[in-house]
Amino acid sequence: MSQAPGIVIVGAGQAGVQTAEALRAGGFEGPITLLGDEPHGPYHRPPLSKAWLAGEMDAAQLVMRAPEMLARKNIELRTGVTVQRIDRAAKCVALADGSTLPYSGLVLATGATPRALPLPGANAPGVLPLRSRADASAIAERMGTCLEKGLPIVVIGGGFIGLEVAATARKKGATVTVLEAAPRLLGRVLAPVLSDWYAELHRGHGVQLMLGAQVAAIEADASGVTGVKLADGTVLPAGLVVVGIGVSANDQLAREAGLECDRGIVVDGCGRTSDRSIVAAGDCTARRLADGSLLRLESVQNATEQGKSAAAALLGQDRPFTATPWFWSDQYDKKLQMAGLSIGADTWAVRGDMASGSFSVYHFQGQRLLAVDSVNAAKDHLQARKLLDAGVSPTPEQAGDAGFDLGGLLK
Ligand code: FAD
Ligand code: NAP
Repeated sequence: MSQAPGIVIVGAGQAGVQTAEALRAGGFEGPITLLGDEPHGPYHRPPLSKAWLAGEMDAAQLVMRAPEMLARKNIELRTGVTVQRIDRAAKCVALADGSTLPYSGLVLATGATPRALPLPGANAPGVLPLRSRADASAIAERMGTCLEKGLPIVVIGGGFIGLEVAATARKKGATVTVLEAAPRLLGRVLAPVLSDWYAELHRGHGVQLMLGAQVAAIEADASGVTGVKLADGTVLPAGLVVVGIGVSANDQLAREAGLECDRGIVVDGCGRTSDRSIVAAGDCTARRLADGSLLRLESVQNATEQGKSAAAALLGQDRPFTATPWFWSDQYDKKLQMAGLSIGADTWAVRGDMASGSFSVYHFQGQRLLAVDSVNAAKDHLQARKLLDAGVSPTPEQAGDAGFDLGGLLK
């Protein structure tokens, strides 16, 4: 008797692995096939801009799940395999090698792709994005050459990738310029006061920071990139240009298969797509909220939580992702931990002394707490998640008064 088709997972990253393991934890006993187009088994991406790039971590520490561990759970991992098409009528996926694989349930966990710089010269050798382990190795190699030859590094984009790479490159002694198009760093996530604090942090570590920068072209010779030309004609010499200007969701497989997509595969709070046999999780998704709007989150926590929800959905259960979103970023010796979503904030309160390097910024809309960003203040961060999960709001005055016991509001 032939075995019934099992669950096929496209993408062996954070969300794919989480979904596979949650399916097993939830009691699914059929076949699970985890397909990844990268040559490596699942690995952690966050260190790629931090400890891995700094050379402080070895390959073994980057591994998220060893293939043997997946095999022990009877999860078949296939690396170097690209899914090219979904046939929803036949319930199978077509692979790049010409074969097909049937499914009873399909998980799309395809992640995201860095946005390319839409400028002349952007394809020159040494103009590099950062998403994969291969990207990080290419950056590390070129950074090594820059350090050897005393060539400067230019980072385009003052978001998470750009700032983490800048901090790592400075730590290694490189000359670094960060070009950010917006008037402030991490403008979509941080309060203005914290953007300014991060700008000073980077300047204090010797980064040349250019806000409101307009990049016009990349200059190169036969050996690769030589500089970055700005709209005013200034040319910044560079032996390496790292581009961190955001990502696009990998939703093309879903789009071509006729699933609803809108800058990401549209899913409900439980990870279901517009096809009941197909769920999606992680950076490739856009989650429909109760008010009809779409939320795109790109983080480890989101991939993990959506993976659990997607697995439950395939097992016929509702497990909506309701936890407060949280993120982190390591730059120099500062750990930034963000809880909640600050979109729509109009009032901010600072708790602690910013000059001490350990403090939190509370974002409010009117009197309602939306989010809390903590710098080297892990206790505030954990408490903030509890306050936000419980829907409990201090007033801005209480939040800004370090003597006021915010924990007391939870009792
Ligand atoms: P991914 O991890 O990207 O996995 C998707 C996988 O699917 C990839 O391997 C991709 O190659 C594969 N794939 C795509 N299409 C196909 C196909 N057709 N066939 C087969 N395989 C396919 N988040 C944080 O919360 N904190 C951090 O500090 C942090 N730091 C980061 C640092 C870096 C350098 C990067 C790049 C990201 C960082 N992130 C961080 C973001 C976090 O890593 C992502 O949000 C998370 O990895 C998303 O997981 P995912 O499974 O959705 O996607
Ligand atoms: P990002 O955080 O969206 O930041 C991109 C930045 O580049 C934005 O500030 C953007 O400004 C700016 N920008 C866009 N076009 C530009 C241009 N032409 N010139 C100069 N600046 C430009 O994206 P990212 O830093 O590339 O990160 C990519 C992904 O990795 C995201 O999913 C991110 O969450 C993830 N990541 C997360 C972490 C973390 O959580 N610690 C760390 C690293 C990476 P506008 O906003 O005005 O467009």
